[in-house]
Amino acid sequence: MDDLRLALLLNAVSPQVGGVLVRGEKGTAKSTMVRALAGLLPSLAVVEGCRFACDPAAPDTQCPDGPHAAAAVAAERPTRLVELPVGVSEDRIVGSLDLERALAEGVKAYEPGLLAAAHRGVLYIDEVNLLNDHLVDLLLDAAAMGRSYVEREGVSVRHAARFLLVGTMNPEEGELRPQLLDRFGLTVEIAATREPEQRAEVVRRRLAYDADPEGFAARWTRDEQELAARIGTAREVLPSVVLGDGALRQITAVCAAFEVDGLRADIVMARTAVALAAWAGRTGVIAEDVRTAARLALPHRRRRNPFDAPGLDEEKLDDTLEQSAGQEPEPEGPDGPEGPDDDGSGPDGPSGGGKDAPTDDGPSGGTTEAEADAASSRGGIPAPAPPQPAAPAASPYRTRLLTVPGTGEGANGRRSRARTDSGGHTIRAARPSGALQRLHLAATIQAAAPHQLGRGRDGRALKLRRDDFREQVREGRESNLVLFVVDASGSMAARQRMSAVKGAVLSLLMDAYQRRDKVGMVTFRGSGATLALPPTSSVEVGAARLKQLPTGGRTPLAAGLLRAHETLRLERLRDPRRRPLLVVVTDGRATGGSQALPDARRAAGLLAAQGTAAVVVDCESGPVRLGLAAELAVHLGAEAIRLDELAADSVTRLVHTIQKEAA
Ligand SMILES: [Zn+2]
Repeated sequence: MDDLRLALLLNAVSPQVGGVLVRGEKGTAKSTMVRALAGLLPSLAVVEGCRFACDPAAPDTQCPDGPHAAAAVAAERPTRLVELPVGVSEDRIVGSLDLERALAEGVKAYEPGLLAAAHRGVLYIDEVNLLNDHLVDLLLDAAAMGRSYVEREGVSVRHAARFLLVGTMNPEEGELRPQLLDRFGLTVEIAATREPEQRAEVVRRRLAYDADPEGFAARWTRDEQELAARIGTAREVLPSVVLGDGALRQITAVCAAFEVDGLRADIVMARTAVALAAWAGRTGVIAEDVRTAARLALPHRRRRNPFDAPGLDEEKLDDTLEQSAGQEPEPEGPDGPEGPDDDGSGPDGPSGGGKDAPTDDGPSGGTTEAEADAASSRGGIPAPAPPQPAAPAASPYRTRLLTVPGTGEGANGRRSRARTDSGGHTIRAARPSGALQRLHLAATIQAAAPHQLGRGRDGRALKLRRDDFREQVREGRESNLVLFVVDASGSMAARQRMSAVKGAVLSLLMDAYQRRDKVGMVTFRGSGATLALPPTSSVEVGAARLKQLPTGGRTPLAAGLLRAHETLRLERLRDPRRRPLLVVVTDGRATGGSQALPDARRAAGLLAAQGTAAVVVDCESGPVRLGLAAELAVHLGAEAIRLDELAADSVTRLVHTIQKEAA
């Protein structure tokens, strides 16, 4: 069974698995498969007439259509698949005030949105990576709390919103923020069907359909019915599935080995393994369940960057499973060696394993023990580091958001604030600060509606007051050109430092990739500066150039800045609306004669005079600090950030908060 189908079915068996993100190129029939899933889900009992799909057995106490009587009439309906359309508005998602009733009757009536419709069903977001950040936040909040909360002028509503989140994305069109990635229980990568055998099967089915449409449909329905029945059975088995200590140990060992952040991965993996056992009709989780769960639950959670191959390193996975299978959590007495089998984690367990579980080369009793011993003694000794010619980049991390100040008009993206009329923008309603520019009609009416009776509205005309007026603010984010100017000179070349610098630039490159920026890189050392990466959208090339970056020699800082200046000048001609952000990574110690420092400052002044937005990443470290990078920042009119301040975490959150409050 292919992974996508399996992932969807596991969610149907256990909604706690937490949804599926389907990654794949265009033309991989992602949507078709997801839509087919909804048809397989068991139907729901709902309180008749409730627009929020209350369960008659346990109605939502805060249901806006409630309270429901204990003896409410129950109705049966199919599980819904609610699709989030491209360009959907916030009102459509969370619901809105029913203007007609507000105006005609002076009643604050709430019209449920898509989150209400998706409750107890599937919420499907095609191309989730293209959704506006602001809407993504809304969905995340609802998904996290299982509840939607609407507070608007005139309305205050909460209702339950628990749904199976299924998203698709084409990774070539930009990555998802890590917070959103983590929200999906499982991910599946699918590639266009290229294998001749699969293509042949598609053709065969098509011919069968053409020859006998009714017979084909009947067979298809029979298959569907069988699947639906199997889901039902698995749901019944699910509560009695036992996750033994051995399997649990394997799960935590695998999560640790793949360096996933937080405990969520362990929990999702455990739930997935349990669902897999139920799907196979077993009441014990076996090693193969853990292995499959890892393949589905971990790829998007391990710390990775866009230049890694997709999926998991399966060899490493197998090694970890094998090692952890033999480990004992604590001395358990004479039955030690039989421990793994008691847990049902050995493939020779009573159930005999899944049909497609490869048992031939799996760990079997004796060898597991011996290997585990060898492995655990190996574990204590650090592996000797292979000799490396160039300093390797430190592991990338999430960087704080660097932006171009002001409001731009560039291509859609996720970096700097921009006025935008293209897709993905948000129209917000705001009280006008000066003269009214562009009326936001709906918001104005909403503001006025609750007061109509009070103001004595009798005829058809709305009674408006000045402070009812709202205007449209169109806001989005643009992508930028992030031009790195990287100091590769001798003063930076200390191995550990260069490794940290490369890690920082790699992190910023990843960030640029996720924000759909163009990137470029100027490096300088020895006798001059090089445009190592002409502005491009291919971040991978940037990462490759960074890896090979030669280091050492003098520090021609001025040459580096002038090269950047020239690069930006040309790029401005090519792509005038894209605003550049210059990121200068240096310790500021210009060398090469007495004029080196003044020259660098003049070059910085040239860039500042152009109004180039810049950030200096100050790489100076050690006990004696000259503060030259900070001085360079002053000449550039740039912010200076120390290398160790570049990571996101609390700082990013703070920046976001400040920006939100300023908005
Ligand atoms: Zn209800």
